[in-house]
Amino acid sequence: MSLLVVGSIAYDTIETPTARRENVLGGSAPFFAYAASFFCPVQMVGVVGADWLSEYTEMLQKQKVDTTGIEIVPDGKTFRWSGKYHNNMNDRDTLETQLNVLGTFQPKLPENFRRTQYVFLANGAPSTGLAALDQIQGADLIVADTMDLWINTTRSDLDALLKRIDGLVINDSEAKMLTGEINLITAARRILTMGPKFVVVKKGEHGAMFISEYEIYVVPAFPVSNVVDPTGAGDSFAGGMMGYIASRQGNLDGETIKNALVYGTIVASFGIEDFSFDRYKQIDRSNIEERRNAFQAMTAF
Ligand code: AMP
Repeated sequence: MSLLVVGSIAYDTIETPTARRENVLGGSAPFFAYAASFFCPVQMVGVVGADWLSEYTEMLQKQKVDTTGIEIVPDGKTFRWSGKYHNNMNDRDTLETQLNVLGTFQPKLPENFRRTQYVFLANGAPSTGLAALDQIQGADLIVADTMDLWINTTRSDLDALLKRIDGLVINDSEAKMLTGEINLITAARRILTMGPKFVVVKKGEHGAMFISEYEIYVVPAFPVSNVVDPTGAGDSFAGGMMGYIASRQGNLDGETIKNALVYGTIVASFGIEDFSFDRYKQIDRSNIEERRNAFQAMTAF
């Protein structure tokens, strides 16, 4: 079983109402890969510059992430993103995006990544996702994420990508932006007409919802009292969800989907308790199971 992620690798500068961190590891691919690695081996594809620190490759390798798909551009600079959270710690403003090497990224998948069964196209330019899909044969499940930037600037590429994926993971405001609908269920159903067979809508501190033609499943967020930095929560949620599905051989019955939503929620709930990967480095699968059991007790009725 193999799970591949293609996405951004970043140095993030994060401001919250009480703290600030400069140039910490971020990006959609590392957050996804780390979260998924609690469930299955992961292959990661992305691009970095000469400023990349080998300790980050080592951190990912320790988690059974195959890093041979990380391209290092010797005269380039790694993608940088900076964001500032509002007092509610849910909304944020992007202060700066420096694409750097991400701007000209042409993914080149190592030979042994091309027949992978499960694929996640994490947040990045839709053209990058399309170029990756051109190199992949016979995947069982292809899921993608997207964001407002790509909806607004590369809509035709995004429309082409939507036709080639099985599932879309998207946050609530972006689902509305993509479809022009104000009701989330209606928006998700509209997305189903654009290509994907299912949509997972992320609602931040309000949880997540899975919608396909005949199914709707909802899961609340795990109540976290000390939210330190929500950056990467969406990617980590997707990593936990896809990692669990891959560990269940891609089974998409209702029970597996509901458990996948729960595992995505639980993994993300750890990530937001500290900056960057600091909280993840302290936990293992047993901590995830313990919190999952507490969540089950809270939500079962
Ligand atoms: P999330 O909090 O799940 O939305 O993910 C935040 C991560 O996405 C940060 O670590 C950023 O480096 C990364 N990111 C921000 N903007 C972009 C973008 N335009 N393309 C790809 N990744 C991005």
